[in-house]
Amino acid sequence: MGGGKDSASKRQNLKTIDKAEHSHALVPAAEDMVIDAPIISSYNDRIRPALDAVDKLRRLMVMKEGIQLPTIVVVGDQSSGKSSVLESLAGINLPRGQGICTRVPLIMRLENQANLKSEFSLEFNGKLVQSDEADIANAIYHATEEIAGHGKGISKIPLTLVVKKKGVPDLTMVDLPGITRVPVHGQPEDIYEQIADIIMEYIRPEESIILNVLSATVDFPTCESIRMSQQVDKTGERTLAVVTKADKAPEGLLEKVTADDVNIGLGYVCVRNRIGDESYEEARKEEARLFESHSLLSKIDKSMVGIPVLAQKLVQIQANSIARNLPEIVRKINEKLNASASELNRMPKTVSSVAEAMTSFMRMIGFVKESLRKILLRGEFDEYPDNKDMHCTARLVEMLNQYSNKMQKCTESDNKKNFLVEEIAILEECSGINLPNFLPRNAFIVMLQKKVDGILHMSVDFIEKVWNYIEGVVIGVLMKHSENYYQLQISVRRAGNNLIAKIKKRSVDRVMEMVQMEKLTDYTCDPDYLDKCNNLNALRENFMRDVLVNHLRSSAVDLQGFGHIEVDHLRQQFPVLNQAFDLKMRMTAYWKIVLKRMVDSMALHLQFNVQNLVNNDMEEEMVNELIGPQGGGIERMLGDSPSVALKREKLSKSVQKLTESKEVLAQMMEKMVA
Ligand code: GDP
Ligand code: MG
Repeated sequence: MGGGKDSASKRQNLKTIDKAEHSHALVPAAEDMVIDAPIISSYNDRIRPALDAVDKLRRLMVMKEGIQLPTIVVVGDQSSGKSSVLESLAGINLPRGQGICTRVPLIMRLENQANLKSEFSLEFNGKLVQSDEADIANAIYHATEEIAGHGKGISKIPLTLVVKKKGVPDLTMVDLPGITRVPVHGQPEDIYEQIADIIMEYIRPEESIILNVLSATVDFPTCESIRMSQQVDKTGERTLAVVTKADKAPEGLLEKVTADDVNIGLGYVCVRNRIGDESYEEARKEEARLFESHSLLSKIDKSMVGIPVLAQKLVQIQANSIARNLPEIVRKINEKLNASASELNRMPKTVSSVAEAMTSFMRMIGFVKESLRKILLRGEFDEYPDNKDMHCTARLVEMLNQYSNKMQKCTESDNKKNFLVEEIAILEECSGINLPNFLPRNAFIVMLQKKVDGILHMSVDFIEKVWNYIEGVVIGVLMKHSENYYQLQISVRRAGNNLIAKIKKRSVDRVMEMVQMEKLTDYTCDPDYLDKCNNLNALRENFMRDVLVNHLRSSAVDLQGFGHIEVDHLRQQFPVLNQAFDLKMRMTAYWKIVLKRMVDSMALHLQFNVQNLVNNDMEEEMVNELIGPQGGGIERMLGDSPSVALKREKLSKSVQKLTESKEVLAQMMEKMVA
């Protein structure tokens, strides 16, 4: 052990905890390590503030805020020797033995101190219990009973054991219940799932170091704990194996740990724990002697045996892990703090007086009006960049175009099918005792009325569809701006629905009126009508010749503006054909005007009503609903809704916790610099 006195090379050794570089001469003797712990403590002076900070964060439960802390998690099958390993590291007695002893996560925090008088305390459920070395096993037993009940059940609520003792390595580790496939008497049926759940929760985060405790007496690949750690750490880069009970199964142990069948990235350490009533010091001596002199065990490299080596490796791994994770932790805490603080800021102030309620209400109405003006009138959608439904001006034009297309394509607008058949029928019905070369006006009006009736439903459908759409938009905007006044939302929604229902009814009436007007008379000042009419009528002579003279040649003729039309059925209709053609051409020219007028006035009507809605009607309806004689009363805005109150409380707690965490980290930085 000559090298053991060379502190420079020891330090060097600590920096490079590479299996290959470890030579047996560099490993300090057990006495050095644990009784005086010179290397570990000098090293720990530097890592201690960081470890303290991480432990404080753990106690603040920042993990609940979604911030993972570097943690050494002890896992192993039942009776693999987990508690014994922790005992050996801490130099104390833990509840140990057959059956399930560790029933809650036990966070064990070891602190090296100069003072010879050791201190022991337990923290759980917000309580702090002082204890002493002789009684600690008992105290843990009782605390476990308190947390997890008297039976054999387990619990997720952790128990923290703080051990301040001269010579212990500065380490914080979590001991978890051992994995068991078969429930013992008195255990719940799903004990395996419960335990697996807890273990997974602790070992899944990338920040966790897995300390896998394996008994030398078993075949490693069959261990449940190996199976589980491999699920979350395939390459084993954050898994360290401790092989216990080396004394019980020395045969083949060297081969097992060198073959590394189970992918342990951080290496193996073989140990022999305290047996029976041995004292802690006796146990260490016995272990040292065993690995020094046993014919098989002495062949294992000294960098892979003994509790002191394990302690040293763990301290090193822990330091690396903290150093690696700390910047990210600081960043995450700041990020979460900022997010929570600004969310809290954005929450509405609690409304506590009627005047305040009034102000908030009027402000809300103001916001709603501005939003609606933007999306419905001005076509600005910066508030809803990705929600196409809220890009209203575009959607309204889209609907208007659809309406127009539908009108152009409907049967009423189809002037090719059954060419002149309807015209002939109507003319026959409208004939009277008068000259045949005057087109009876009545025939034109009858035909017009039939056609207009045919498009009535399209116009009503359209206007209803538009208002349904606007209703969705208005309600959406109302809900968005009233989300902080939960008591208001019901009234506001009702007001919105009522308002749109009223407007819709008015609008439908107006559309019906427009249609009625079209039926009443035929009028336009549009010169296009006459032009078109004349142009179309100019086709008549050719058409008549095609139908009547060239009839032997073909059953269909080409008519400019109409295309290829069937005319066979017209050949017997000679007497009224001229008039029918005239009627058709006038109607064709006029129908274009009618459709144009419908679509145009529909567009203007809509724009006008939407403008009114935003500028006048909405405010009026809201004020009536809330403050009017039949209204629900502005007092309803007072006080927080349960959900808002809960959110506010949660946020302020989180802000408080994160602020404390930030403080902890700032203090740590100061200490490290000092
Ligand atoms: P846990 O269930 O994983 O916490 O296992 P325990 O620490 O309670 O140990 C189970 C049993 O194995 C106990 O009886 C211990 O005394 C025994 N044991 C643990 N480590 C060793 C060891 O290194 N050598 C021997 N011979 N027995 C050990
Ligand atoms: Mg145990």
